[in-house]
Amino acid sequence: MSKIPEIYGSMVFNEHTMQERLPSATYKDLMKTIQKGEPLNLEVANVVAHAMKEWAIEKGATHYTHWFQPLSGITSEKHDSFLDPTGDGRAIMSFSGKELIQGEPDASSFPSGGLRATFEARGYTAWDPTSYAFIKDEVLCIPTAFCSYTGEALDKKTPLLRSMSAIDEQAKRVLALFGEHVDRVIPTVGAEQEYFLISEKDYAKRSDLIMTGRTLFGYSPLKGQELEEHYFGAIRPTVNEFMKELDSELWKLGVSAKTKHNEVAPAQHELAPLFTNANRAIDENLLTMEKMRLLASHHGLVCLQHEKPFDGINGSGKHNNWSISAGKTNFLDPGETPMDNLRFLVFLTGVIQAVDDYQELLRMTVASAGNDHRLGANEAPPAIVSIFLGDELGAIVDALVDDHEYTSAEKVAVDLGVSVLPNFLKDNTDRNRTSPFAFTGNKFEFRMPGSAVNLADCNMVLNTAMAKSLKDFADAMEGKTGEEFESAAIAYIKETLKKHQRIIFNGNGYSDEWPAEAERRGLANNRTTADALPAYVAPESIKLFEEFNVLSEVEVRSRYEVKLEKYTKLMNIEVRTMKRMTRRTYLPAINKYATLVANEINELKSAAAGIDTSVQDELLKKVTDGIKEINAALNDLHEAHLEARAIADEQEKANKYAHEIVPKMERLRAGVDAMECVVAHDLWPVPTYNDILFYC
Ligand code: ADP
Ligand code: MG
Repeated sequence: MSKIPEIYGSMVFNEHTMQERLPSATYKDLMKTIQKGEPLNLEVANVVAHAMKEWAIEKGATHYTHWFQPLSGITSEKHDSFLDPTGDGRAIMSFSGKELIQGEPDASSFPSGGLRATFEARGYTAWDPTSYAFIKDEVLCIPTAFCSYTGEALDKKTPLLRSMSAIDEQAKRVLALFGEHVDRVIPTVGAEQEYFLISEKDYAKRSDLIMTGRTLFGYSPLKGQELEEHYFGAIRPTVNEFMKELDSELWKLGVSAKTKHNEVAPAQHELAPLFTNANRAIDENLLTMEKMRLLASHHGLVCLQHEKPFDGINGSGKHNNWSISAGKTNFLDPGETPMDNLRFLVFLTGVIQAVDDYQELLRMTVASAGNDHRLGANEAPPAIVSIFLGDELGAIVDALVDDHEYTSAEKVAVDLGVSVLPNFLKDNTDRNRTSPFAFTGNKFEFRMPGSAVNLADCNMVLNTAMAKSLKDFADAMEGKTGEEFESAAIAYIKETLKKHQRIIFNGNGYSDEWPAEAERRGLANNRTTADALPAYVAPESIKLFEEFNVLSEVEVRSRYEVKLEKYTKLMNIEVRTMKRMTRRTYLPAINKYATLVANEINELKSAAAGIDTSVQDELLKKVTDGIKEINAALNDLHEAHLEARAIADEQEKANKYAHEIVPKMERLRAGVDAMECVVAHDLWPVPTYNDILFYC
């Protein structure tokens, strides 16, 4: 099993390769850029570009690309070959520092939310040296940021990097108060990716899956997940072959794919990598998603990354494990000594403040047409943001808030003077799977993101909101040292926790009582994407982003527009697909069955006089009634759809889809699904859930 070390990172221009291939002065300069964010000059870039090209060519690369994340959320690439004709009929392979640092894709077809007029379509991509370049399918991929010529970010990576700088700067101020000085504070992320695998043959027969990524129709399968036999079950051979190839491809790309298993729903699986810095973790997650989609075809499979491909069984999420660290120190790790504990409480309080103050902004980052089917559907946390701390930590926070003695799990009373803060054990944090934001020992796990989302948005908000908490603390403590600092810090923690206690909820997030209780606490419950998106452009959000130079007001507004449009466009596609399938796929089949039953009745009647056909008559009535209901639901949806399409204001249009059209879609679906249980299986025009979910 020496295979993993052999292949791991073999296609990545990582630190080891850089050290091997770059002159030591260049290597040092580059490391300063990577580790401390210092700017890189063109001379150094030229040397790096040359070494990168030589390395890539040795590995079989013929092209390079600036790999970036436009606002559509997925990654983009345009391949340029290294080809450089010499003028005498021959060619050499060339790649300059300038080509490494900057690219100019024609950007007119990427969403920009009105930021960039089409006549001024040029945007530019800029090398992000903090994420490694890698080779994928003979193409050297250079992770880049994507901006307009006027400097506005047109991508997901740029604001994420800016938010990482913000948290770095503010966390260092806080650490300085503790007498700690570090090179760079970075947020870390580990993204657990859930997905479905189904057979290509079934997929090809369902235009809803092809067009929208989810089944718009389909009666519940005869068995769902109630037997709990799939979760962690033996992995079937086809899936296993897929997973093996996936692991090996990801390892080559330096993605530390660590855990793989079957998930709760039939045909559902998960892959979790080891965590790394937020920027690279997100690049790696996007790469993982891409590899999953592409490699599935080698095994006759299709990988579904939609948040809710099948109704009635669990959808797919992407848990965002998040912490803040410098070197080997994790600031959300309770630590061993009292001072570590105080520092931990400062960071913990910061998170609680951040999540409470910007709960709606955080909720906004995971809003999408697909995730609307997941949040609050008894399988994923509700659309209400709250924090789970666990019994032990919860009790400590209660003690701090109420100013009383804290009794640890071992029933030892300790007072909360800083020097005797308890050493609570990680294992005491029991897992509450229903919480959207749970403390899990030394990190928080944000469980609202859906499987399809680019995690850059939620991490950008988390980092920026956390930078704000840390800044508030550092501002308040400025100039204080020693015991004065310690007691002021404790007083600050107590007061802040008191103010934000409402966001902590250790109970069952799936219960019916929680939304009512949350409302009493004044917590937001933005159930749909249409309700969630306005938080992006709320004055306090714009203020936050501007204060930390993460997004300008113009950038915020353009992003809101892009998200709104994406939502209404997707909804429009879903409705069109539904109407088309109803008219051209389902109704003809159901009508055919009605005719078949009618003919059967006639045949029976002519076979023997006086024969009782009441059962067949009833069936015929059921089917013709079903057809009637489907037609009524279809017309109703059609009317509302036309009205929605005529609305000019995007927010209004989104509201119409979310609140009026979705229920009509559900009605139409119910009508068709009811017939699925009646019409003969061999006449049913598409593979059913029973057909799709249990064969691979
Ligand atoms: P589970 O949640 O399934 O029990 P783990 O707790 O082991 O699994 O980790 C889940 C994910 O969290 C993994 O991707 C892991 O690398 C990541 N993770 C662990 N520690 C941190 C951290 N300090 N920061 C960010 N992610 C982390
Ligand atoms: Mg987890």
